[in-house]
Amino acid sequence: MSLVRDGIPASPGIVIAPARVLRWEVPRVPHGGVVAAEQVEREVERFREACAWAKERIRELQARTEQAMGRVEAQIFEPQILMLEDSDLIDGTIAYIRENHLTAERAFEWRVLEWESQWSHTAHPMVLDKLNDLADVQNRVLRRLLGMPDPELRARTGDDKVILVARDLTPSLTVQLDPRQVVGIATDSGTRASHNSILARSLDIPAVVSLGDLSEHVREGDEIILDGRAGRVIVGPSEEDKTAYRERDFQIREWEQELLLLAHLESVTRDGHRVQLRANIDLPGEAASARAHGAEGVGLFRTEFLVVGRGAAPGEEEQFRAYSEVVRVFPRSPVIIRTYDLGGDKFPAFLHMAPEENPFLGWRAIRVCLDEPQMFRGQLRALLRAAALGDLRIMIPLVNEVAEVVETRRHIEECLAELRAEGHDVPEHYSLGAMIETPAAAMSAPELARHVDFFSIGTNDLTQYTLAVDRGNSRLSRLYNPFHPAVVRLMALVADAGRAAGIEVGVCGEFAAHPLGAFLFIGLGVHSLSVGPSALAEIKKVIRSVSREEAAAAARDALAAGTPNEVVEALGRHAEDWIDLTRFMASWNLSATA
Ligand code: PEP
Ligand code: MG
Repeated sequence: MSLVRDGIPASPGIVIAPARVLRWEVPRVPHGGVVAAEQVEREVERFREACAWAKERIRELQARTEQAMGRVEAQIFEPQILMLEDSDLIDGTIAYIRENHLTAERAFEWRVLEWESQWSHTAHPMVLDKLNDLADVQNRVLRRLLGMPDPELRARTGDDKVILVARDLTPSLTVQLDPRQVVGIATDSGTRASHNSILARSLDIPAVVSLGDLSEHVREGDEIILDGRAGRVIVGPSEEDKTAYRERDFQIREWEQELLLLAHLESVTRDGHRVQLRANIDLPGEAASARAHGAEGVGLFRTEFLVVGRGAAPGEEEQFRAYSEVVRVFPRSPVIIRTYDLGGDKFPAFLHMAPEENPFLGWRAIRVCLDEPQMFRGQLRALLRAAALGDLRIMIPLVNEVAEVVETRRHIEECLAELRAEGHDVPEHYSLGAMIETPAAAMSAPELARHVDFFSIGTNDLTQYTLAVDRGNSRLSRLYNPFHPAVVRLMALVADAGRAAGIEVGVCGEFAAHPLGAFLFIGLGVHSLSVGPSALAEIKKVIRSVSREEAAAAARDALAAGTPNEVVEALGRHAEDWIDLTRFMASWNLSATA
């Protein structure tokens, strides 16, 4: 019997290979661990030397990562360096050595255990990333103290092609991965924004994260299918599964080839309606590949990479460089940049955010920005300066009411006045949009439309908040269904309100990357779809295969449907000439439960 697990798609691509289960462990400290009084200072010295050595190694790794992958990726090691400078960890360990006459390794182990126990009561992704960094630091310092060699990933993975399965990977293990051997990564924890997901995307290794306790159910050598695009892992697949996935992989590659040829063609429906197809990107470096794959601009540039895991907020210049880099790739097309969507699963160290019971219902996104005007205005200033170079549009996440837009506009106007007074080049007009991600925003769309220049529907959060289903909980993945009639009706409200107000309505959530989702949006009359670079091929093909008239009829039927299954069936009926629904349902991890 095969085991099927759905997690979070973290890096696209389909691979089939045997599992290499990686159970990396921090070395055990030998029993005993007490020294004579006269040796105490020597232990303190040993500990200081090990920390200095660890910091040096991390800096080397950081420099190599910067050279191989870029500056953003190299920043991933910053939290570890900060830990090695943290007086609570370092002085706390030294105090244990002096007060209890412990060996350096025993005292450090104690202190680390205390840090861990402060955090480990929660399964919060931010905390898990932090624990992961701490484990990396602990591993390095203890190995130095115990005279053990650094962990060598290559020795553990060998030369054959494997899919690495682990509870989690530390950043220093991930940067050592060789994409010729490790062809896929499946981890129990992690989010799209966590260190390892960012590194996997940079290394072009397909990855699925947040797979529950998958690593406990996989044995060394088990055959695995990993679909990093749909977020699915199948352990011990049947021959039919393998054939279906090979076909799907082949089809996607073929589509991608086709699209590279079609990249210069317009994104229009069969009956001549333009639907702008833009890209979602997480790092500035992804813009060029998005353009090569036919994106007509950027529909969502997530900016959290600039702050997550940082010890200090990034300066205006650094931000200006990152935003300008993307605008320069698309000098004549819209580049929609989202202001920081912090909170939820993304917490920068410098904000010192207190743990929350319900972080996704907590201090998040625009709420954080409006409460932290210094950070927010630094970002707005950099955005406004980069807007002078092209068609940059500012978008704010998780808007719930008009007051948030009004306050954002006030900050923007003040920043513009400041920048002009300082002699900076800034545009005459600016464009401000709201992400529609909550039922409150969708139902207030007519009011919001009077205050913004565009809407962008964030289907990932809109689905989560409408259905009260955690988008990252793999146990609930069957219930997380954007085809639910309630979600579809809310999206239609937004499209109608935007049309009535004469503003652009786009979609930037994952549902736009779903062929039937894209079909529905075309039918609802949205102006633009924004999808991850790996989905551009498929969605461009959908746009060019359908007629808007047919899509509108499909949307009408979908809006009259009473269950998620009926919604899918209604759309499928109108899509028969371009979609093979049975195959599509099987390969698309589609759980349209009634
Ligand atoms: C969304 O919620 O649909 C969205 C695009 O934003 P994110 O996935 O970054 O929350
Ligand atoms: Mg969102």
